Amino acid sequence: MAGHTHIVGAGLAGLSAAINLLKAGRDVSLYEASGHAGGRCRSYHDATLDHRIDNGNHLVLSGNRAVMGYLKEIGASDSLTGPTAPEFPFYDLESAEQWTVALDAGFLPRAMLSKGGRVPGARRLDYLKAFHLAFAGKEATVAQCLGPDNALYRRFWEPLAVAVLNTDGDEAAASLLWPVIFETMGRGGSACRPLTAKVGLSESFVDPALAVLKDRGAEVSFNNRLRKLTIDSNRVTALTLGQDTVNLGEGDSIILAVPPSAAAELVPGLGAPDDFRAIVNGHFRLAQKTEGFSFLGLIGGVAQWLFVRGDIVSVTVSAADDLVEQPTEVIAGRLWADVAKALNLGVAPMPTWRIVKEKRATFAQTPSQVGRRPPARTALNNLFLAGDWTDTGLPATIEGTLRSGVMASDADLENLN
Ligand SMILES: Cc1cc2nc3c(=O)[nH]c(=O)nc-3n(C[C@H](O)[C@H](O)[C@H](O)COP(=O)(O)OP(=O)(O)OC[C@H]3O[C@@H](n4cnc5c(N)ncnc54)[C@H](O)[C@@H]3O)c2cc1C
Repeated sequence: MAGHTHIVGAGLAGLSAAINLLKAGRDVSLYEASGHAGGRCRSYHDATLDHRIDNGNHLVLSGNRAVMGYLKEIGASDSLTGPTAPEFPFYDLESAEQWTVALDAGFLPRAMLSKGGRVPGARRLDYLKAFHLAFAGKEATVAQCLGPDNALYRRFWEPLAVAVLNTDGDEAAASLLWPVIFETMGRGGSACRPLTAKVGLSESFVDPALAVLKDRGAEVSFNNRLRKLTIDSNRVTALTLGQDTVNLGEGDSIILAVPPSAAAELVPGLGAPDDFRAIVNGHFRLAQKTEGFSFLGLIGGVAQWLFVRGDIVSVTVSAADDLVEQPTEVIAGRLWADVAKALNLGVAPMPTWRIVKEKRATFAQTPSQVGRRPPARTALNNLFLAGDWTDTGLPATIEGTLRSGVMASDADLENLN
């Protein structure tokens, strides 16, 4: 296949595009501004904890078909782990109530048929509200469709929506939650198993992809920031990377897989999401190790999800724009209080900790920001966009990100044919 695709940004969107293009026999170069691949989804050694950690806890679901396809393509299908059953355990930090949302027979049937299968306080009819999402208008929020004054909303839908959309339910776009429900719960329990990386995010999603790129002859360069696109009539004709200029030939193209603010600076007139939400993760190193991996949804505190892997307990707070402004010591203390309560540790002193603040974890997934997502194709013939902020129809998650890479690279390939 004549020509070359230059991919800018080695987050999961750029990696996904590269893998798809290499599979189709296209020559690929990948340029990354930082010293590592993975972007917002990666692992690194933390000196304070003396442990390898992920930048943030990431959960996917067994029904995420782009995730499963990508992992298969890079030879990492067996790198995820999770509970054998599609179950989501919850704990109320105020009332100490516990419950599990079990999705083994699909979401609605089991929960509606037996009282024991329902979230405490939830009525049968509350479950039917899920279908409001299917008919939600573009401007509708999750709270307008599913809540806000019922136990099912407070104890399941709201925590789920905040985790998936990284946006509070009263402003989160309902239109983005429905495809997730449809593609997972709509397909029954086998599509709803929560999964996480067995070892770390990089070991699952990044390192095996880089190995495939190397194996198939792709050029990958780090510390190589794209500074400028030279545009002539309706094509990009050159890239300025650091001090170097790469001239583009007839059959050459570019996939810009950078965050929206970087893309908007590089592409004149590009409309893109410009409002963001934070995620805060707290990691605590315990004295003893536990086998395997477990997680727990938390209600009524600051921490929202708790993950235990080996001797590290990690907690996540999404839509954390207020919390992220607090000093890390204060955040650590507040999160540890929730961890100690949830794990019944009594007044255990706070162990070694690390707080990771991601101020721009994702774009704010509100109806107005969703309306700003651009498609993969641009007004320029040989320029395509990828990233969790582009218009995939899905939330800004790993699944949406990987699909964005496939959509941009498919558009590139279509153009060549
Ligand atoms: C804390 C946290 C928790 C999350 N939890 C989950 C979860 O549980 N489940 C889930 O599915 N998703 C989760 N996500 C979302 C998921 O991580 C993102 O959707 C995904 O990683 C976005 O990938 P991307 O490739 O679009 O962007 P990025 O990862 O941001 O990649 C863009 C890359 O472009 C590079 N770049 C920028 N400018 C330039 C330039 N000019 N030249 C060259 N390179 C450049 C950047 O350095 C970066 O490497 C979470 C995100 C965060 C931050």
